[in-house]
Amino acid sequence: MTEFPQVMINLDYLEQNVRTVMGRCADAGVSVAGVVKGATGIAECIEVFAKGGATQIASSRLEQLETAKRLDTGLPLMLIRIPMMSEAADAVRLADISLNSEITVLRELDRQAGIAGKRHGVILMADLGDLREGFWDRTELIEAAVEVETNLQNLELKGVGTNLGCYGAIQPTTEKLDELVSIAEQVEKAVGRNLEIISGGATSSYMRILDGNLPERINHLRIGEQILNAYDLEKYYGYDLSDMHSDVFTLRAEVVEVKTKPTHPVGEVGVDAFGRRLTYEDRGIRRRAIVAVGKADIGDSDNIFPEDGGIEVLGGSSDHTILDVEDAERDIKPGDILNFAVNYGAMLYLTGSANVKIRFHKSAK
Ligand SMILES: *Cc1c(COP(=O)(O)O)cnc(C)c1O
Repeated sequence: MTEFPQVMINLDYLEQNVRTVMGRCADAGVSVAGVVKGATGIAECIEVFAKGGATQIASSRLEQLETAKRLDTGLPLMLIRIPMMSEAADAVRLADISLNSEITVLRELDRQAGIAGKRHGVILMADLGDLREGFWDRTELIEAAVEVETNLQNLELKGVGTNLGCYGAIQPTTEKLDELVSIAEQVEKAVGRNLEIISGGATSSYMRILDGNLPERINHLRIGEQILNAYDLEKYYGYDLSDMHSDVFTLRAEVVEVKTKPTHPVGEVGVDAFGRRLTYEDRGIRRRAIVAVGKADIGDSDNIFPEDGGIEVLGGSSDHTILDVEDAERDIKPGDILNFAVNYGAMLYLTGSANVKIRFHKSAK
C-alpha cells in the first residue's frame, strides 16, 4: 500500500512543546492535564506527554484513555467530556478522574465505582458563560458537591473546574476565573475543607499564564492545542510563541493531476458535493494540481497550508484537494509529494482517519 496521504509527527518537537508549557505552568504553580484528543490519543504522543511532565493524561474519549492505560505511564487518567450514563462503568474502570455536571450521572458513577471496588475522583464543572458543559446554577453545584462529599462514598470530590472559549468563544478573563475561585471557596465552605484542584480551563486560559495574571488559587489547566498545534494563541491573539513548534504535525500528500484549466467552473452552477452553493472567482486560465487527500481526511480544505511557496488551496471534495500551482516556485508534476502545515481541525481528522498513514520523525528537522 502507498505511504500517502501521510501525517508525519515530529516527536522531538512535541516533547519540546510539552516541556515548555509544563515549565511555564509549573512556574505559575499550575499543574497540567495533557489533553491528547486532538491527536486521537496516538500511543506515541501519549508517551511523550507523560515523559514531558504532564500531571494527568486527559481525553474526551474512553477509547483513548484505554490506550493510555495500556501504556502504563503511571499517571492518573482524566475523562474530560462529561460522562455518558451508558459509559459510567467504563469511565470508572479507565479514568481516575472525570469532569461532571449532572447529579444523576454522579450517582451512577458512585454506584459503578462501588461495584468495581474503586474510588473515582470527580471535578464539578461550572458554566461561566461559554454555554457548553457545567452547572449554571451555583446552588445546584454546591448541593451536588455536598452530596458527593457526604453520601457518595465511592467518589472523591477533587475540585471544581470550568471550560471557556469553546462554544460561546467566551474569553478566560481574570474576572471569569475569579468567579471560579469564588465558587470553589463556596464549595469549600459547604464541605468544610480545601479542594485539591481548581481547574481553570484549556489552551485559552494559558493566555493568563503568558500574561502572568492567572488568579492565585487556579492551580490546574487542561491543555491540548497549545502543545500539539501551538497555533491559535499566536494566530488569533498575537502572542509570541516563537519558542514553540507549530509544525509537530505535517501532512504529506501526493499529486495525482496537474493541468491547465479555467478557474471558473464551466456550465450551470448548482450545489457542491456537500450541498453548498459556493462562489468561484474567475482568474482566467491557470495551472492547477490535485492532491490525493480530501475532506474525509482533513475536515475542510482550508485546514491545510502548503509549505511550498506560490501554491494556494482552492477547495476540494471528500477525497481530492485542488491547488492553484500557476505561481508555484517549483515545477509540480504527478507523483510529487507536497507538504502542508495543519491546523487543529486537520490534525484531528488526519490522526483519526483510517486512510492516513501515521509516521514519526524523531530528529530535529
Ligand atoms: C478539549 C478540552 C480541553 C483541551 O482544550 P485545548 O483547547 O485543546 O487545550 C480541555 N478541557 C476540556 C473539557 C476539553 O473538552
